[in-house]
Amino acid sequence: MKIMAINAGSSSLKFSLIDMDNKEVLLSGVFERIGIEGSNYTLKNKDFKIRQEEELTDHYSAVKILMEKITELKIITSLEEIDGIGHRVVHGSDVYSKSVVITDKVLEDIIKFSDLAPLHNPANVLGIKAFKEALPNTPMVAVFDTAFHQTMEKKDYLYPVPIKWYEEYNVRKYGFHGTSHCYIAKRISEIKEKDNLRIISCHLGNGGSVTAIKDGKCIDTSMGFTPLAGIMMGSRSGDIDPSIIPYVMEKYGKSAGEVIDDLNKKSGFLGISEISNDTRDVLEAMADGNEKCSLAVDMFVKSVVKYIAQYYVELGGCDVIAFAAGIGENNNLIRLKIMESLAALGVIADIEANNTNREEKKISSKDSKIECWVIPTDEELMIAMDTVELIK
Ligand code: ADP
Repeated sequence: MKIMAINAGSSSLKFSLIDMDNKEVLLSGVFERIGIEGSNYTLKNKDFKIRQEEELTDHYSAVKILMEKITELKIITSLEEIDGIGHRVVHGSDVYSKSVVITDKVLEDIIKFSDLAPLHNPANVLGIKAFKEALPNTPMVAVFDTAFHQTMEKKDYLYPVPIKWYEEYNVRKYGFHGTSHCYIAKRISEIKEKDNLRIISCHLGNGGSVTAIKDGKCIDTSMGFTPLAGIMMGSRSGDIDPSIIPYVMEKYGKSAGEVIDDLNKKSGFLGISEISNDTRDVLEAMADGNEKCSLAVDMFVKSVVKYIAQYYVELGGCDVIAFAAGIGENNNLIRLKIMESLAALGVIADIEANNTNREEKKISSKDSKIECWVIPTDEELMIAMDTVELIK
């Protein structure tokens, strides 16, 4: 079976065409700056990489080019070879706790949930509509970022605010990166050949979240009503005291929207370091003696460790701590700092094992009370696996 996994953003469209018989990525790539000057696309697989400047007026034109190229490059001989398309959809509200085949009703719901994810769901809808036009007879599946977290209990997902905010307007914790946390939990279960495990999954990318998983189910997660909550991130603040918002509005004469924008785009690593949202730049400046960068790294480590410690207690102990995504997979220094900060829980790093990056690997020493692992996450594969399950 050949499955296309899609992640559509407001001005980008990422895709992977995966042969599910051997999990080979036949073609992957990204269309960037859709509808903006300087649009381009990159297509690659194990044999080649093409980057092309091309006018992309909208998602429809990006998908049209993708469909042309995929046969032109002889990746497949006919578009009918694509058995299904899996779309990453950020918000499924509390209606979808699993991936689903996209029907008119499902699409309507995804549009309706735009209220809860105004930056993401409308973009996901664009991707769905563009593929529906290009391949009208190919089944499509929605894989929700929120779905994995739907197993949280009410006491874990409610905020201590007037309960009618929840009852009337769905104000609650949803959690995100569910596809990645689910993949990580599955991989660890496979590696350990065991389902009843207590896992703390740390997806540390430009956006980041930590999730507590018991017996394969999410019991708590750091992101909240939106992906702004939780740990410190590239340019997002993570948790702050909400009273800061009206205070800053008054001091700087900003609107609520402008302050939320600052919390989403000008905070986190960028806000503290005043250098970059990219941890690589911050670490480089830190190595040159930049104190704000060093502070940013310490604050990030602390914010992750706080959640791990909380979840350790919530889970009644922990078997595996997993590190994934941009920082988690590629940065041994930050991983080491996190592991060292967890000494009170009996975590002991294996310095040598931790020095290799980008590899699925155990990075804690044999004497460590909790195993620590790097698990390169694969959201596309997870999306494709769910798609196969549903269209079979
Ligand atoms: P996203 O959250 O956008 O999906 P990724 O999971 O790919 O992103 O993470 C991207 C981030 O990972 C970059 O912004 C950068 O901060 C971080 N990153 C990537 N490689 C490294 C590295 N070698 N060292 C430190 N940070 C890294």
